[in-house]
Amino acid sequence: MTEIQSFLEERWQSGRGTGSTLCDPTSERPIATARTEGLDLAGALSAARERGGPALRALSFAERGELLRALSAALRDAREELLDLSVASCGTTRSDAKFDVDGAIFTLAAYAELGAGLGARRFLVEGEGERLTRSPRFLGYHIRVPKRGVAVHINAFNFPAWGMAEKAAVALLAGVPVVTKPATSTALLAHRLMRVVAECGALPESSWQFVGGAAGDLLDHLGGQDVVAFTGSAATANWLRRTPSIVEHSVRLNVEADSLNAALLLPAVHDDTYQMFLRDVVKEMTQKSGQKCTATRRILVPEDDLERVEGDLRERLAAIKVGDPRRDDVQVGPLATRAQLEDARAGIGELVESGARIVFGDPERVEALGVEPGQGCFLGPVLLRADAPHDVPAVHAREVFAPVATLMGYRTADEAAALVALGGGGLLCSIYSDDGSLTGELIESLAPFSGRLFIGGAKVADLAPTPGTVLPSCVHGGPGRAGGGEELGGLRGLDLYTQRTAIQGDRGVLDRLLGLR
Ligand code: NAP
Repeated sequence: MTEIQSFLEERWQSGRGTGSTLCDPTSERPIATARTEGLDLAGALSAARERGGPALRALSFAERGELLRALSAALRDAREELLDLSVASCGTTRSDAKFDVDGAIFTLAAYAELGAGLGARRFLVEGEGERLTRSPRFLGYHIRVPKRGVAVHINAFNFPAWGMAEKAAVALLAGVPVVTKPATSTALLAHRLMRVVAECGALPESSWQFVGGAAGDLLDHLGGQDVVAFTGSAATANWLRRTPSIVEHSVRLNVEADSLNAALLLPAVHDDTYQMFLRDVVKEMTQKSGQKCTATRRILVPEDDLERVEGDLRERLAAIKVGDPRRDDVQVGPLATRAQLEDARAGIGELVESGARIVFGDPERVEALGVEPGQGCFLGPVLLRADAPHDVPAVHAREVFAPVATLMGYRTADEAAALVALGGGGLLCSIYSDDGSLTGELIESLAPFSGRLFIGGAKVADLAPTPGTVLPSCVHGGPGRAGGGEELGGLRGLDLYTQRTAIQGDRGVLDRLLGLR
């Protein structure tokens, strides 16, 4: 069994206590232990503030970008090993493993590129100066400087590689040192990734540290210059929001939480658009076994199309093979843990209780290829249908983190928008349409409830990635239930880790001081 250690103050360290045992969700055999009791996490935060931060801030954006480029290259060199470990420890198929690991490599490279573009600067000047008096000589500028604290990153279990790298890339480019705490259940992959980062030796001392297991007293030592970026369940987010150190010091907290993402098919679409809709819905239900924050949970189609869509989805879902993720013919591996499996089954029960009915799949039974019956945390795709979509509260409120979605009909575009809004705020709504004016109307009604709108249609059917793909140049996050946070979005992501300060004074002096002339 592998012992997951923590990387603190440039040393790999073992914790004490019983800790947690991690299992391969395919075989349910123990594969690793994670213990963090007794680790000096306050010391790690101090090291980040005293050594990591100053070293990063001394570098220009271009130089920080070079660090990210080196990290991306090191991960690329270790890619095969990371993919193998993802399959062996997280239950991901190879294709799903690539989504996570390549996402990490790509996002680091994307932020390296942004750093190169910003050049020799060490902080950002936003926009043009603001004229503050009748004379043009007295101006106000806004600058964004790196915070003097630590970026504490708490990640969810579903993207151990990408989740860790996408957060770190942004903080490091901003000039803020990182302490990553991955979800324990899939921390083996995160641990290996951190070893690659540490061994590549590109980063200044204590600029990226790693807590391999429970958070212990990490959050008790936060101060006003620190930032917490959290991805996980709404329940943990709510607990974090009430954490005394966060409340008392107004610690900036970014939350990426649950989301009941909707796929919305508009009436009378071209066949190419319809096929794209079917392809995307099936992919978004089944990729990473549905354990994706951007996975489709609610499928909204014109009432007249319900039967056809249900039939087509059932046919496509029936072709999906569930089983040992090591097999090439399998598209859906197990859920990450037995607890996740039980939670998903309970969630399906709540959807049914609420008024939805299962039209495809069986939550209690699945034929999993290559494993003994009853072994592993498997759940095959489950499609539900709700014929009274306004009257199924759980469908709009309970995120079943598995290959599970509910099909519903709507009569008018306004009704469709109202149903999307019932989700209480989400990361993503995908719209499949060839009707520009109707799509235009929907953008205004859907955007307040969505972090991202994806508009599929015949013109992009053969070139767009599936909607759940989070790209570093667009923001990721969403209002309400989704946590109210925002990550990535190119340079927008740096906002979280920087202080915006207004600087007022003589135009000539400011232009010189800020390096504008
Ligand atoms: P979770 O149980 O809330 O755990 C998330 C993280 O919080 C883990 O690292 C966990 O550590 C940590 N944590 C739990 N209690 C803590 C505490 N008291 N102090 C400090 N850290 C604590 O969520 P999950 O089951 O890993 O993830 C699934 C959820 O994440 C889903 O609801 C999904 O929608 C959401 N998600 C959202 C996004 C997004 O971008 N919006 C992306 C991915 C996932 P341990 O593992 O050690 O308990």
